[in-house]
Amino acid sequence: MTIKAFVIGHPINHSRSPLIHGTWLAEHGIEGSYEAIDVAPAELPAFFARLRSGEFAGGNVTIPHKEAVFALCDSVDPLAKIIGAVNTLVVTDGTVHGTNTDYLGFLGNLDAGAPGWSDSLDAAIVLGAGGAARAILVALSSRGVKQVHILNRTLANAAQLAADIEGPFSANGYEAFAELAPKAGLVVNTSSIGMHGTRFDTLDLALLPSNGLVTDIVYIPQVTPLLADAKALGLRTVDGLGMLLHQAVPGFEAWFGIRPTVTPDLRARIEATLGH
Ligand code: NAP
Repeated sequence: MTIKAFVIGHPINHSRSPLIHGTWLAEHGIEGSYEAIDVAPAELPAFFARLRSGEFAGGNVTIPHKEAVFALCDSVDPLAKIIGAVNTLVVTDGTVHGTNTDYLGFLGNLDAGAPGWSDSLDAAIVLGAGGAARAILVALSSRGVKQVHILNRTLANAAQLAADIEGPFSANGYEAFAELAPKAGLVVNTSSIGMHGTRFDTLDLALLPSNGLVTDIVYIPQVTPLLADAKALGLRTVDGLGMLLHQAVPGFEAWFGIRPTVTPDLRARIEATLGH
């Protein structure tokens, strides 16, 4: 029997998920499919009825449905509740379970690109306080990072995040970077700065410890100005494309029963679609 999975969104034709999962299906010779399905918000309940009929093993959820599917799932993972978004659905015996694999994608990417990065990491700086930052804070907490400083343009949004999620978090404006950087072993950009060549004007990366690690979850362009500046200073860097690839691993394993690997070949295939 063909095992079927999907990604739903509206619009959906930009999604790289069919290429990621299609590559793994072919690699493992699995009789399965992974299709992109455009589902408008008003059609979500009908799509969930289809799910409960057993047509699919599960699938991914992307913009604009990541919050709306909460109410439609039969159960939701506690961490997805904290993160505030569901990006993966698993259907078992007609019930739909929602989870969030973004934080695992973030951790998998850093574990692959900078092994041991969280060992005795005392302090980290997270730039940005939007939806993606929530998953990053959950990820950093799960690794026991002792102090995480959230820096954001709108201080109230950083403060809200620090209040919403349990953990050793402080809320700051970007001007706090100079004071906090010397003790920060990790800097994570989760803001949209870096997309389309935009850059941070005021962060002096030279203030970071010389063994500091800088990672950006923005992956278009793959080397953002932040990563280019960090590389030029000799700091370690990990780009954000791997987060996209690694977040797909747990879903594939749940639907198709095999844990896939993020290989250089897979990365090259996705890079070829990024248009640079
Ligand atoms: P979001 O909820 O819209 O949050 C955007 C964040 O960027 C907020 O902190 C916002 O600050 C800040 N920001 C936006 N424009 C700014 C500007 N001109 N100056 C200063 N700060 C600015 O977005 P999101 O969902 O968190 O996504 C953020 C980025 O992460 C996107 O580029 C997305 O593509 C990327 N992402 C990557 C992955 C991956 O797998 N690699 C996964 C998820 C997301 P304010 O609070 O002040 O508005």
